[in-house]
Amino acid sequence: MEERVIKRLMTSVKCSSCGQNYAGRNVQVIGHHHGLWFISAYCSSCRTHYLLAATVSREKAEIVSDLTETEFVRFKKSRAPTADDILDMHSFLKKFDGDFTRLFGRERVS
Ligand SMILES: [Zn+2]
Repeated sequence: MEERVIKRLMTSVKCSSCGQNYAGRNVQVIGHHHGLWFISAYCSSCRTHYLLAATVSREKAEIVSDLTETEFVRFKKSRAPTADDILDMHSFLKKFDGDFTRLFGRERVS
């Protein structure tokens, strides 16, 4: 799937803060990995930046989030991601092999 398709699909997604749909020009695809797209989106209505993970089918984009409401509020108050943050994430995803166990360190399972 192409980035422009992802951008177009993202315009059907509503900002979780104010409910306004995202404008295509405010959606930036950072990268993708195994069907999961990492997206930076800016809501021009409430001026909030989001870093999103989304799974995308042919018809619609669906935001994936493990954030609790408390975490959501905390991140909403934190600074917006900078261009450097986006580039760092892009570089990371280009090299990432999907091994989350190695990324977060192995935990012993008894
Ligand atoms: Zn908004």
